[in-house]
Amino acid sequence: MTLIERYGRHLPVPPDVAPVSLGEGGTPLLPSRRLGPALGLDLWFKLEGQNPTGSFKDRGMTVAVTLARARGARAVICASTGNTAASAAAYAARAGLAAAVVVPRGRVARGKLAQALACGAEVWEIEGDFDRALELVRATAASVPAVALVNSVNPDRLQGQKTAAFEICDAFAGDRPPDAVVLPVGNAGNITAYHMGFEEYRRAGRLAALPAMIGVQAAGAAPLVLGRDVPNPETVATAIRIGRPASAEGARRAVAQTGGAFAAVPDEAILDAQRRLAAEEGVFVEPASAAPVAALLEAAAGRAPEVAARVRPGVRVVCVLTGHGLKDPDAGARLGRPSRVLEAEPAAVARELDRLAGGGPAA
Ligand SMILES: *Cc1c(COP(=O)(O)O)cnc(C)c1O
Repeated sequence: MTLIERYGRHLPVPPDVAPVSLGEGGTPLLPSRRLGPALGLDLWFKLEGQNPTGSFKDRGMTVAVTLARARGARAVICASTGNTAASAAAYAARAGLAAAVVVPRGRVARGKLAQALACGAEVWEIEGDFDRALELVRATAASVPAVALVNSVNPDRLQGQKTAAFEICDAFAGDRPPDAVVLPVGNAGNITAYHMGFEEYRRAGRLAALPAMIGVQAAGAAPLVLGRDVPNPETVATAIRIGRPASAEGARRAVAQTGGAFAAVPDEAILDAQRRLAAEEGVFVEPASAAPVAALLEAAAGRAPEVAARVRPGVRVVCVLTGHGLKDPDAGARLGRPSRVLEAEPAAVARELDRLAGGGPAA
């Protein structure tokens, strides 16, 4: 079943409109095996990297492209740090529409660019950051008929993305709902969408209380923590390298109305969290997606009191892992031990195996 079929009565898609779908949504909610116990938390991971193009953007794109096509669009356009481009390109291809994506030159992870190009999108690189790219597409898209803007400033995107909150509630139905939901924040559409989703379920009597929403930014791109725009945002987490979030208002409301918080984490903490997620949980995410886990680790180390205050021992926490590690192979390859060259002989391999297994009998 497509996401639109599953949650149709919560979505603005008329029943006679055929969904443009790649099988998005229904992503795993995985209990943590090591980090949670080490932190004294009942920690869960929502694996949004399992969506068709490897990020949560697909939840919004299925609704945005479905409605764009139904309204007669022939092309879609977006500004992107990479994942929106990959998703827009794929859903446009599926729908039979043209796609153009405007990206900051040299600042898009390799996997994401490959996805957009492979799906036939026109990729337009600009000398400027995401904020400038979004300014450009917002200033121009409306003046060209039959072009739909599919950034998260398009409300259809947020409608689709709120379904992740529904899935979390449905997964814990009849059980204790999460006390806190922690997610990375860039342009702030996703935190706004989760808040909408939780609020809709609460009003429908399907959720007793809203979880505290904790929005995590990179220290070099933290306008919501600082309370002002950041002119030249810098972070290894390119998906959240944004200095002027379009949905800042929605993000502030989400945090205020749920007793949540914004937090900033340094790049070193993000990379450490990315490495630990992969090495200790087997979950390989892109850097931006490790920011929520970095915030929990920083809180445990006494460096994020605003997070620690809301994530007391024993609480149930869901970290939203927004995008797949394969998106950014350059960041991923730096995480583990470097590969080594072995002699192509059984003795050489056996020697290494013996060392690996600690010299004991084979398991
Ligand atoms: C888009 C994106 C974000 C940020 O989401 P916003 O809605 O812009 O706040 C975080 N992580 C990944 C992997 C993304 O692609």
